[in-house]
Amino acid sequence: MKIKAAQWAAPGQIRLIETEKPVPGPGEVLVRVESVGVCGSDIHYFLHGRIGENRLKGPTILGHEYAGIVEAAGEGADPSLVGRRVAVEPGIPCGACEWCRSGRYNVCEGMVFPGGPGVDGALREYMVAPAGRCFPVPAGMTAAVAAMIEPAAVAVHTVELARLRPGDTVFVAGLGPIGLLTAQVARLCGAAAVYGADLYPERVAAARAHGVDEAFQAAPGGMAAGARATVDWLFSRTGGRGADVTFDCTNSSDGILVAMHCARPAGRAVLTGISGAEEDPVPVSVARRRGLGVQWCRRFLNNYPATLALAATGRLDVGSLVTHSFPLERTQEAFQLVADYADGVLKASVDF
Ligand SMILES: [Zn+2]
Ligand SMILES: [Zn+2]
Repeated sequence: MKIKAAQWAAPGQIRLIETEKPVPGPGEVLVRVESVGVCGSDIHYFLHGRIGENRLKGPTILGHEYAGIVEAAGEGADPSLVGRRVAVEPGIPCGACEWCRSGRYNVCEGMVFPGGPGVDGALREYMVAPAGRCFPVPAGMTAAVAAMIEPAAVAVHTVELARLRPGDTVFVAGLGPIGLLTAQVARLCGAAAVYGADLYPERVAAARAHGVDEAFQAAPGGMAAGARATVDWLFSRTGGRGADVTFDCTNSSDGILVAMHCARPAGRAVLTGISGAEEDPVPVSVARRRGLGVQWCRRFLNNYPATLALAATGRLDVGSLVTHSFPLERTQEAFQLVADYADGVLKASVDF
């Protein structure tokens, strides 16, 4: 049986195709996809066909932030999942390598990640997924919110890596969905003040409603240009001290610079953004002199249950970040909107 899918065909081009309906194998379930979020990482693939050295190998169905209804369970898969709406943790680690066995499956080098090189993603009517990676969502949680659990889990992992302490001052570079979710989670973890910066005035204006106390309109161009003003602003807000914890949630090389420059002596910087470059400049002398703790964030690590709990109680507001919704037929438009930062978009979702 054929199903509809939106397939990346070439840079800037997504086309509607028909593809074979997948069949759940042992331990897998069949998910009727209801909602797929458009991620910043998808936009790198959409525009350039690559993220750093990770290149799409040919036409590929993108999409990894997804939720849907389980319609069938394969052999050995938990049959009680059938009929449930689930948030799906997209990556499938090998389970056998040293990193998987030592509890760091998020850096598994054999990870099968849908919507990336060689693996079709969720922008199609049906997906199969391992039953163990499907998390039933509480009654009343919409599919669009359930799909947002994926980026929200990234934010939860980001903040967990920062080892935030009550009363810490926080700075977030980049106020897109990941940055705004990170700001909210930091607040939940006891941040006394959350500052942020973004290049887009709509995002600066929206930030206050999403957990940021004060946001700065940044300019691009590295420390010799726009980034310097952001650092000066943050230092003016923190009495010349810098922030205890900083986060890079941008898609630019500047985000790394700004996050590291804004951290106080012996502070911590967590780098979650994806610049798309294979190599980025790092301010080594600032990092060394201040003795910064610098940590990169790779996706998430066992964060779905906690993230679902935060979203279910409303303590973490993920729903209001979904500003635009498109049908599958208009996936190209959804991607173009996000790529253009048009119409005040935060998260665009494709809803079936
Ligand atoms: Zn994502
Ligand atoms: Zn592994």
